[in-house]
Amino acid sequence: MEHRTNFPSTQDMQASDAAHHLHPFTDTADINAKGARVITQAEGVYITDSEGNTMLDAMAGLWCVNIGYGRKELADVAYRQMQELPYYNTFFMTSHPPVIALADQIASLMPGDLNRVFFSCSGSEANDTNIRLVRHYWASMGKPEKTVIISRKNAYHGSSMGSGSLGGMTGMHAQGGMPIPDITHIDQPYWYGEGGDMTPEEFGLQRARELEREIARIGEDRVAAFIAEPVQGAGGVIIPPSTYWPEIQRICDEHEILLIADEVICAFGRTGNWFGSQTFDIRPDIMTIAKGLSSGYQPIGGSVLSEKIAKDLDEKGGEFAHGYTYSGHPVAAAVALENLRIMQEEKIVKNVRDITGPYLAAKWAALADHPLVGEARSIGMMGALELTPDKSARAPFAADAGTVGYICREFCFNNGLIMRHVGDKMIISPPLVMTTDEIDELADKAWKCLDLTLAEAKSQGLMVAGKR
Ligand SMILES: *Cc1c(COP(=O)(O)O)cnc(C)c1O
Repeated sequence: MEHRTNFPSTQDMQASDAAHHLHPFTDTADINAKGARVITQAEGVYITDSEGNTMLDAMAGLWCVNIGYGRKELADVAYRQMQELPYYNTFFMTSHPPVIALADQIASLMPGDLNRVFFSCSGSEANDTNIRLVRHYWASMGKPEKTVIISRKNAYHGSSMGSGSLGGMTGMHAQGGMPIPDITHIDQPYWYGEGGDMTPEEFGLQRARELEREIARIGEDRVAAFIAEPVQGAGGVIIPPSTYWPEIQRICDEHEILLIADEVICAFGRTGNWFGSQTFDIRPDIMTIAKGLSSGYQPIGGSVLSEKIAKDLDEKGGEFAHGYTYSGHPVAAAVALENLRIMQEEKIVKNVRDITGPYLAAKWAALADHPLVGEARSIGMMGALELTPDKSARAPFAADAGTVGYICREFCFNNGLIMRHVGDKMIISPPLVMTTDEIDELADKAWKCLDLTLAEAKSQGLMVAGKR
């Protein structure tokens, strides 16, 4: 790709950025001292910074650019839609063609009887909608005391007051008075880190049964819903043991609570099926979607309701006093629709399931041979490496969590690979269009960066095991 330079110097941009831009999930002192990396263009699975360095983006932006960068069809659709109808709302008995077509298309792709969409602009907003929706639902059904939502530790459901409370990130809860009332958290199905001597199957069952105990503790008459990601993404690509979801589904079936599958990452092909709920045989009452819906080309998300919930609300819910100015934004809807059309036309999900997913799985699993890697797990097009000073014991580092992961992430950045770290886990979620050649490049670069990290960790005396 031709390197464009139609912008100020990197130094000038970094100075302005430091002076006037407050970054999400960033230590301000740190970024102001080091300067932001300024990304200026992208094509396919590669991004380029203002200095002309090109990097393989194994994170698909933030888990979202599933279709890859530079798809002109999406730009053309946005351009046309902006000229025809750049904005109109969907409040007060109005609608418009793109949102009507998109809701229809989403309903036709969805598993089970999920077929009614409430649109938002993000996953956070969609999960905020879900909090209000499930409480409104139970109140409408004559059970206003059912307000508690059970979630999980180390879950990620967004960053607004409501969605951040649903999430189980202790670092987030420590700031700003979260969680809000009537949200509780059970333990996560993270076998590598918390499974001890149990087999993954035993552990999966044990963790699932915590939901049943939590329902009993709170009282079923108080519980509105359970929310979970099919695979925890931001928590570190935590793939639950095979026993986990069937047991969760049984518990949800046997108790009068709603099941919300937060598929902001998993939906639209990430796990090798259109939805994570299909991969894990989950039957949610509500599904959260965002990210891959538009491949990140426009901000759009939604809550998708089952036929039963939607019909009950039709009959008894009245007006749901809730909505966003940009719910079902026409440009975002048109772009999402075109994204889904291309995904279908190019059989991108089938390709992940049959070709690139299995190929990545093999390449990724081989990284477990590296002396720094305690486990290499993947599903579809997402994966994690557990860095460890002692493979045999699944030991964490004695140093603060994330010390070695951060070192590895920096080596990746400087060697043309975007791989993120969550503590001492390295994680990937590449564009779904990544080819087998590009997967080779990803695995080669990852190995090289692990070598560099190991050497650096040794020289800093970090290869010391700590306690769980
Ligand atoms: C990213 C994410 C969200 C939040 O979506 P935003 O668009 O960033 O608000 C919610 N749930 C999951 C599972 C996510 O990965």
